[in-house]
Amino acid sequence: MRVAVIDYTLCKPDRCNTECVRFCPVNRGRKGVKAIELSGETGKPVIYEDTCIGCGICIKKCPFNAISIENVPDELEKRTFHRYGANGFKLFGVPIPKEGQLIGILGKNGTGKTTSIKILAGEVIPNFGDVERQYSQKEVLERLRGTELQQYFSKLYEGKLKVAHKIQYIEVVPRRLKGKVGELLEKADERGIWKELSKELGLSNILESEISKISGGELQKFLIAAVLSKEADSYIFDEPSSFLDVKERIKVARMLREYLPSSSYAFVVEHDLAVLDYISDSLVIMYGEPGVYGIVSKVYGSRAGINNFLLGYLPAENMRLRKEAIRFHVSELPAKVGATTEIYLKWEPFVVDLKRFKLEASGGDIRRGEVIGILGANGIGKTTFVSRIAKLLEEGRENENALVKFSYKPQYISPEIFEKPTVAENLASANPSALTPGSWIFEDIIKPFGLYRLRDREVSGLSGGELQKLAVAVALAKEAQIYLLDEPSAYLDVEERLAVSKTIKRLTEARGIAAFLVEHDLSIVDYICSRIMVFEGEPGVIGRTGSPLGLREGMNKFLKQLEVTFRRDPVTGRPRINKPGSFIDREQKRIGEYYYLPLEGTVISEDDEK
Ligand code: ADP
Ligand code: ADP
Ligand code: SF4
Ligand code: SF4
Repeated sequence: MRVAVIDYTLCKPDRCNTECVRFCPVNRGRKGVKAIELSGETGKPVIYEDTCIGCGICIKKCPFNAISIENVPDELEKRTFHRYGANGFKLFGVPIPKEGQLIGILGKNGTGKTTSIKILAGEVIPNFGDVERQYSQKEVLERLRGTELQQYFSKLYEGKLKVAHKIQYIEVVPRRLKGKVGELLEKADERGIWKELSKELGLSNILESEISKISGGELQKFLIAAVLSKEADSYIFDEPSSFLDVKERIKVARMLREYLPSSSYAFVVEHDLAVLDYISDSLVIMYGEPGVYGIVSKVYGSRAGINNFLLGYLPAENMRLRKEAIRFHVSELPAKVGATTEIYLKWEPFVVDLKRFKLEASGGDIRRGEVIGILGANGIGKTTFVSRIAKLLEEGRENENALVKFSYKPQYISPEIFEKPTVAENLASANPSALTPGSWIFEDIIKPFGLYRLRDREVSGLSGGELQKLAVAVALAKEAQIYLLDEPSAYLDVEERLAVSKTIKRLTEARGIAAFLVEHDLSIVDYICSRIMVFEGEPGVIGRTGSPLGLREGMNKFLKQLEVTFRRDPVTGRPRINKPGSFIDREQKRIGEYYYLPLEGTVISEDDEK
C-alpha cells in the first residue's frame, strides 16, 4: 500500500511548471489513466494512490519538495484510524486507554501523537481513512464495536467521560485567557485542591500576577495545576516538562502520580526520557514517516518501551525503527573531563549586581571546542553569567579590529523573535551562505535539521519543534566565538534533541569555539557536555556558581541539592530516576554517587520501582 502526501502549504502551482503532473509516467502512458492531476476545485495536484506506481519522479521534479510517497505494509490498511484529507497525513491506530493507568506516548514529531490525543479527547472525530465524508459519532461507535476502544469512545461520545487536556504549545494561552493566576486557578478548580497544587508547584507568590506577565515555566505549571484540579475521567498532558527546570520536572512527575484520580484514564506525551519513564505505567511508541504516516505500537511496559525505542527495534511487531541504537555512557568518560585541550577563555571571580538580582561567580575557564552544561533553576542568573563571559572575551581580544561575538538562542521561542518573515530569509540574514549546498552551515546545520525543505515557509506557520530548530540554526549560523543555547531541546523529539546536540558538539570542535548549554534534560547534558557548572541560590534574588566541574562531580553537586538519585539502565545506559527512600536511592546517597556509578561491582536493581 502507498501513502502519498502533498504538503499544500509548500505546493505553489503558480510558481512552478506543474512538473509533478507533466512528468508522471502513468499520466503519460495508457490513455485515460491518471496517477496525479490538478484538482478542479483547488488548482493543486491530487495523487491517486491506487494508480500511482510509486516511481518517485514527481517527488524529485517538484521544486518545492511538496510531495512525499511511502510504501507501507498492506496489512496496516485495516488499522487506518484517521486521515487529514485525500493526500493528508494518515494515522494507523490510536493508543488504547486503560483505566487507572498513565500511558506514555513516545515518538518522533509529526507521527501523529497530538492527532491521537485529540481523537482521545473527542476534539477530532476519526474518519478511518474515508476522507470523502464526515463520520458521525454513532458511526464511529459502530466501527469500534467489539474492540477494546468501544467502551472508552461510547462514554466519551455519550458525555459520560470528561476530558481535561494540557495542550502542547502553551504560548497561545495568554492570548486567549486574561486575568490573574490565582483567580483563574480558583475558577478552574473542581476538586477543591487549587491552593494545595499552587503551593506544591511553587505558584503561591505569583497568584496576583497577570497571566500575560508570567514566564514560560510558570505558565506550564499554572496549566498543569489547572488541569489536575479538574474533575475529569480522562487526563491528557501534552509535553508537560517543556520550560521546567530539573527540580520542577521531577516535582511535576511526582505530582501527576499522586494527584491523578486512581481510576481515571491518563496519557502523557513527553520527550524527556527520564521524566517519561518516571511518570508512565506503560507506553506506546509512535513511529512512521513524519508528516506522512504514523503507526501506534503495541503497549509496552515503560522501561521496556523506552529501551526498545532507544535500541531502535520493536520486538512485538518485529519492526526496526532505525539502523543504530542510541546508548548513553554508564560512567563518566575520562575524555569528557575537558582537561586536555587548550584554554579558550579564563575568568577571575566576579560579581554582577543588577540591584534586584545579584550573581556571584567563582573563577574558571572554558576550553577550545568545549560544551559546558549549565544546570540550575530558572531565574538563577545563567543568562547573566554568559553575557558577562561574552563581554570578557570582547575586552580580552588580541586584535582590536577582530570582532568577538556572542550568539544567543533565547529560551522562549515564538515567531515574533525572528526578524524576517520566511525561514530562508532568516537563515540568509544569519549567514549569507546558509542556503548554499556545500557550505559548512548548509551541510552541518541546515540539512540535518531538515530546514532546507521548509525554506519557503513563513515562520508564523511553523510548529514549535520547527521554530526551535530554526532558532538553533540561526544562532549557530552566526559567526561568533561563544554560543549560548538556552534550552534548545524544548519541543524537539528525542532524535532531534540528539541530532541538535551532535551538531553543537561537532561545530564547536571543528571551529575551535566554545558553547554554553543551558539544558534541563539531563540525558542531553550527559550526552554532549564535557563539564558542568552548577548554579545555586534563590531564583530572582541571588545566584552563585562555582567553577566548571567534571561531569561526575557536577552532577553529584547538582543532584545532591535536589535530593534525587539516578540509576542506570543496564541495557541502554540511560539515566532513570530512583524512587525516593528506595534501597538503591539510600545506597547511592550513602556513597555520594547521585548520577554516575562505578561500573564494576555495582548492583543495579531493575524492579521498575517508582
Ligand atoms: P505529533 O504530535 O506527533 O508531532 P501531529 O499529530 O501534530 O504529530 O501531526 C501529524 C501530522 O498531521 C503532521 O504532518 C501535521 O502537519 C498533520 N496535521 C495535523 N493537524 C492537521 C490538520 N488539522 N489538517 C491537516 N493536517 C494536519
Ligand atoms: P536564568 O538565565 O538563570 O533564567 P537570568 O540570568 O536571565 O536567569 O536572570 C536572573 C535574574 O536577573 C532574573 O530575576 C531576572 O529578572 C534578572 N535580570 C536579568 N537581567 C536584568 C537586568 N538587565 N536588570 C535587572 N534584572 C535583571
Ligand atoms: Fe508544482 Fe510541486 Fe505543487 Fe506539483 S506539487 S504543482 S510541482 S509545487
Ligand atoms: Fe506519478 Fe510516479 Fe508520482 Fe506516482 S510517484 S504520481 S506514478 S510520478
